Amino acid sequence: MASGALIDTHCHINSLDIHLREELFTLGEKKFIFIDVSTDSYSARLSVTLSSQYSFIYSCLGFHPLGADSFKEEVINEFEELSHQSKKVVGIGEIGLDYKSQASFETQAKVFKRFIELAKRLDLPIVVHNRWNSSSLFDILDEYFSSYRKVIFHCFSQDRKVLEKILRKDGWVSFSLNILRKKREIIEALKAVPFENLLLETDSPYMFINGKKSHPLNIKDVYSFVAQLKEISLEELSQRVLANAKEAFRI
Ligand SMILES: [Zn+2]
Repeated sequence: MASGALIDTHCHINSLDIHLREELFTLGEKKFIFIDVSTDSYSARLSVTLSSQYSFIYSCLGFHPLGADSFKEEVINEFEELSHQSKKVVGIGEIGLDYKSQASFETQAKVFKRFIELAKRLDLPIVVHNRWNSSSLFDILDEYFSSYRKVIFHCFSQDRKVLEKILRKDGWVSFSLNILRKKREIIEALKAVPFENLLLETDSPYMFINGKKSHPLNIKDVYSFVAQLKEISLEELSQRVLANAKEAFRI
């Protein structure tokens, strides 16, 4: 693995238009590493195909809460098999809670728990999506985790209080492209997060920037912004985040 590479710890290459995907592949493994996150069984299978073809892509197997109503128990078996088939499967996610979902809280919580149990069985970290009140999320997590060392809080968009709760249990806090919108509470959380817990991502193409779909290569903008905000060189920042990602995902 290239040591000077920028890692995007959460993107959806599996959902990119094909010509945009090709652009990434031609850049090769020297410059970037991508954790490709899936949201259902179709995207999970596609992600595993991509990560088996490209050394600089890794896969997380996820089931998004927006689709919780369509959950079937077979998906658990399918993900278990996929993770045994490929060494490039490095996490379970994204999974979590979303108030925009058609599914009830009870259904979402049930599905979330099934995947947490799978991650525990496979000894993989989880990538958590949260668009619900944080106390419901923490209640579920705390049933399973006494430490959050294997919990990645993706696209962190809350305030310092939530951040502190995560840090007390030493979880991973992943900041996404939305930091460029400079919302005050997110910027304050970003300033406060120690380098030891920091991950950086684009959540592309789902994260919109200036009204446009984002791309994993926008990760450069995330690093530049964070380097400036936290007064650290780009090189040191990329090394630290890469070291964190290697620990979090065991890559
Ligand atoms: Zn995502």
